[in-house]
Amino acid sequence: MNGLTRVEIARITDKVLDHAQRYFRSEGFLEIKPVMLACITDPLDGDPGSAVLKTGTIEYGGQNLSLMQSMILHKQKLIAEGFEKIFIMSPNIRLEQPHREKTGRHAFEFMQVDFEIAHGKKEDVFRIVEGFMVSLSEEFQSLKERGKIEMPFERHLVKDLEAEYGPDWETIMSRKSRHPFWALGLEREFYDDEKNNYDLILPEGYGEVLSGGQRIHETEAVLERMKSHGILEKNMEYVEFARQGIVPSAGGGIGVDRLVRYIAEAEHVGDVQLFPRIPGRPVTF
Ligand code: ATP
Ligand code: ASP
Ligand code: MG
Repeated sequence: MNGLTRVEIARITDKVLDHAQRYFRSEGFLEIKPVMLACITDPLDGDPGSAVLKTGTIEYGGQNLSLMQSMILHKQKLIAEGFEKIFIMSPNIRLEQPHREKTGRHAFEFMQVDFEIAHGKKEDVFRIVEGFMVSLSEEFQSLKERGKIEMPFERHLVKDLEAEYGPDWETIMSRKSRHPFWALGLEREFYDDEKNNYDLILPEGYGEVLSGGQRIHETEAVLERMKSHGILEKNMEYVEFARQGIVPSAGGGIGVDRLVRYIAEAEHVGDVQLFPRIPGRPVTF
């Protein structure tokens, strides 16, 4: 741990939440209230980085409802209805495998600043996220002292990083870097464009803090991806939605707990949660 008290950590978190809401509003985004239970959620298929045991579910009113793993599908639904720029302070539950305790960056309950831009491209997301990180770094003394965060951030193709550093490129590059950088072109969930997706990686070994992408909007292409991932039958609500027409968009989700861990220089993401939710460890309150 970093010697900060629980109140000091809560103050950092409060400032990050406040800053995120002010920043996204100032960029013309509308804040949407989070959804926590639904008949569909992000299946997290196809992302080799994902290691959930199962999707959390609750049986209620004769329906099997999922705990929200990410609001991506709900974001796309709102964009298709005509919403232009939205963000959600979105609580997520992901029942991560117990071995994830050791990464230092996995909790099984966390929050994303989840945002989406109708007709957006990856360049729009880069500008907004880089602006957010720069403005955040001006708010925190601990970030000012640790290497100025300046735009534009470096961009690296994942295939180049893999060729140079092997499958553990994220850890190696994150430890080597002094600044956040973009990793481009990852293997992804069915809804993301394979060529136009991105992760933001924090420096000093803190690793990934954001994932996002331009979304696939061609109905046949998305259904084909769902079929090849074997998840078509389980997500018929999305199939129906896709058939009515997906509006192109781009977006991403910033992990709040990971961001606070980075600012606080904490050992584990659980150390910045007032009620830690660490894979493999019991919940005590
Ligand atoms: P990882 O590869 O680190 O397991 P992921 O790629 O599975 O993460 P995403 O689906 O990309 O995670 O989720 C979007 C963002 O939400 C992540 O970039 C991260 O900031 C945050 N996030 C995801 N899973 C967790 C978790 N278990 N604990 C804390 N934050 C998380
Ligand atoms: N929030 C992410 C996005 O917008 C989805 C995720 O959680 O993986 O792409
Ligand atoms: Mg990711």
